[in-house]
Amino acid sequence: MQAFELLSAERTADALRLMAQHEGATVIAGGTTVIDLMKCGVTVPRVLIDITRLPLAAIEVDEKRIRIGALVSNSAVAFDKDVAHRLPMLSKAFLSGASGQLRNMATVGGNLLQRTRCPYFRDPASQCNKRNPGAGCDAFEGVHRGHAILGTSEQCIATHPSDAAVALIALDAIVEVSSPGGMRRIPVEEFYLVPNHTPALENVMLPGELITALEIPAGPAQRNATYLKVRDRSSYEFALVSVAAGLEFDGDTIVRARLALGGVGTIPWRVRAAEEALAGKKADADAFRAAAAAAVEGAIPRRDNAFKVELAKRAVVRALETVVRER
Ligand SMILES: Cc1cc2nc3c(=O)[nH]c(=O)nc-3n(C[C@H](O)[C@H](O)[C@H](O)COP(=O)(O)OP(=O)(O)OC[C@H]3O[C@@H](n4cnc5c(N)ncnc54)[C@H](O)[C@@H]3O)c2cc1C
Ligand code: SF4
Repeated sequence: MQAFELLSAERTADALRLMAQHEGATVIAGGTTVIDLMKCGVTVPRVLIDITRLPLAAIEVDEKRIRIGALVSNSAVAFDKDVAHRLPMLSKAFLSGASGQLRNMATVGGNLLQRTRCPYFRDPASQCNKRNPGAGCDAFEGVHRGHAILGTSEQCIATHPSDAAVALIALDAIVEVSSPGGMRRIPVEEFYLVPNHTPALENVMLPGELITALEIPAGPAQRNATYLKVRDRSSYEFALVSVAAGLEFDGDTIVRARLALGGVGTIPWRVRAAEEALAGKKADADAFRAAAAAAVEGAIPRRDNAFKVELAKRAVVRALETVVRER
C-alpha cells in the first residue's frame, strides 16, 4: 500500500476546508469500500480525510419526511422503527446488503458512492474504461454474468451495486450535498450518470463536495412496499436482480406505483414506463405482467447475462404480488 496522510475533522465546515486544501483527497467514512479499493490499487489517495466524527449521524422524523444523516450506519437505518414502518422498501434494501458486520460499519453516504463490483474494475492488470479511460473493457468478451442489461454503452456494462439506492430512487429521495459554496439538493433520480462515453464519471457530485444527508418523503403512499433481492446465495451477496416496488390503492385499483430495478442497470434503474402501465389498473396478474415487460424494455442482453431479462420480469411480478399480499 502506498503511504498516505490521514487527517480528521470534527465539524462539517472543517472537513470541507480540508477537502478544499487537499485537491484529490479521499473522504473515508466506514471505509468498507475505500480500504478495499486501496488494497487492490484502484484508489491511491495521498490524503485520506476521516469524517466519522462529523455530527451527521442522526435520523430525524416528521409527518412528511425522514431525514437520514450521511454517517448513519446501514444497520441503524434498517432497524430504525420509523423507517421500517413508513419506508419498508428502504429498510429491507439496507438489510439485504452485505453482512451484519459490514452493515454496522457502512454509512449511508458511502453506500451511495460505493463502486461497481465488476471484477475487471478491481483488477489493475485488466483493461477497464472506468478505471483507465480509453483502455478498453475486458468484460465484453470476458466474464459478464453479473453485468448490466440496461443503461449500458459501448464503453461499460458494469452494474451499480447499491441496494439502498434502488429503493431511494423509487422513493423520490433527495441527496443533500454540501460544499464551501453552500448546499445542493439533488434528486437521487438525477444523481447517477449512465456510462455513455465517460464511464469514469458516475454521478453529478463535484470535487470538494460532501454528502451530508438524505431526505425521503414518507407519507402513507410509501407504506405498501417491498424490496426483493434475487442473488446466488441468500446472504452476503450482491443482487443478480432486485426490485423496489410500492403501490398506492383506491379500493382494488392502483392509483400510483413506484418501481425500480437493481442488479440489471448501470445505475439504479427506475422504470417509469412500468409505473405508468400500472396506474389505473386492477392489481392482477395481467397488469403485473404488462408492467414487468415494460420494466425491461430496451434491455441489451449479452452471452452470459441474457437470463437476467426473464429473471427481472419474474422478480417484478413477484415483488408486486408481495405488496398486494402484505397490504
Ligand atoms: C464484502 C462486501 C459485500 C457487500 N455487499 C453489499 C450488498 O449486497 N449491497 C450493497 O448495497 N452494498 C454492499 N456492500 C457495499 C457496502 O454497503 C459499502 O461498501 C458501504 O455502504 C460503503 O459505506 P462506507 O461508509 O464504508 O463508505 P467508505 O468506504 O468510507 O466510502 C465509500 C466512498 O464514498 C465516499 N464517501 C463516503 N462518505 C461520503 C460522504 N458523506 N460524502 C462524500 N463522499 C463520501 C468515499 O470517499 C468513497 O469514495 C458490500 C461491501 C463489501 C465489502
Ligand atoms: S464493464 Fe465497466 S467497470 Fe467493468 S471492465 Fe468494463 S469498463 Fe471496466
